[in-house]
Amino acid sequence: MAAVVFSNIGELTTNDPTVGDESAMGRIKNGALIVDDGRVVWAGAQRDAPSADTEIDVEGSAIIPGFVDSHTHLVFAGERSAEFASRMAGEKYDGGGIMNTVSATRSASTEVLRSTTQVRLDALRAHGVTTVEIKSGYDLTIQGEFRLCELASEFSEETTFLGAHVVPDEFRERRDDYVSLVAGEMLTRCAPIVRWADVFCDQGAFSVDEARHILSRAKSTGLGVRLHGNQLGHTGGIALAVELDAASVDHCTFSSSADVEALAGSNTVATLLPGAEFSTKSPYPSGRHLLDAGVSIALATDCNPGTSYVTNMGLIIALGVREMGLSVDEALYAATMGGAQALRRPDIGHLRQGAKADLAILNVSSAAHFAYQPGASLVRAVHIGGESPAFWG
Ligand SMILES: [Zn+2]
Repeated sequence: MAAVVFSNIGELTTNDPTVGDESAMGRIKNGALIVDDGRVVWAGAQRDAPSADTEIDVEGSAIIPGFVDSHTHLVFAGERSAEFASRMAGEKYDGGGIMNTVSATRSASTEVLRSTTQVRLDALRAHGVTTVEIKSGYDLTIQGEFRLCELASEFSEETTFLGAHVVPDEFRERRDDYVSLVAGEMLTRCAPIVRWADVFCDQGAFSVDEARHILSRAKSTGLGVRLHGNQLGHTGGIALAVELDAASVDHCTFSSSADVEALAGSNTVATLLPGAEFSTKSPYPSGRHLLDAGVSIALATDCNPGTSYVTNMGLIIALGVREMGLSVDEALYAATMGGAQALRRPDIGHLRQGAKADLAILNVSSAAHFAYQPGASLVRAVHIGGESPAFWG
């Protein structure tokens, strides 16, 4: 493949502290970036740029590393806008609506699931996402979860088995049997085609002991683990995530000082999902407090039909800034490098030499616009491994 230079970049964010302004953002004004064979080979000032075979002049636009959306439930059927409306009218979220999506998904054809997932993925891309994690979890049968894992793997290599999303209605009177099924036959069927296992460890879902059992089994099959924790209360999910060396514990809406201390001394990322607090009218966790305590954080969309039907990472950044106490740059970093850390992917989330050339070209001259123009369409194009799947003009 011939080398391509992106030239006349108004503001290049690399997340490489050894270049540009030498901040964590590694920011270069009037920059250039050279990509060869799908990898970043050079980043620096425009005036110092070596020549390349092809030039893409971005005319003063900003370029950022592509967003790494490390938490989505993209494969589902149906929608739950009525449930959202009643929550906005005062009803409390308790995880109960998941079974509505399960019945819609069980009865949907594979073709419909595939085409609707593609639509959502296109929406994420249009807002700058170049890597997306996708969970199963809306079928809760062996064959059905396998179907969702297979579909997810058509769209991403970051796929997650979430058979332990909730206990399905048909197992309500015998939840131990469901936990055994998930940790046994269902896991055995799905594990070969996914990278991760996840458990919704919270009130109304799975207990710490149940989650520990399922995730320990998942680890023994070679899967990485992550978990939904402390969304609905102080339920012990954060401590369990650290105990199991999970790559990420997601939500963290509630956390004790012991939780924060444990996270700070661990390799577990706290993934914040402000779309969920927005959509369930819940208090936002303090990203500021976590960062100040030394915790690594990520921001992700949690795109799902019940509690965060959000495909716009810019809006997530704006919420992180406005509601979680993050600076604009901290939120941007959490949505790029933070997401990559939450997926334990050293090759993405930044534009250092050798990184996968996943980037977003903006139609504005600075990345601060993600928080400054919340919800706006700011992405002109994304490149994934140096290739551009689409341009939005
Ligand atoms: Zn989730």
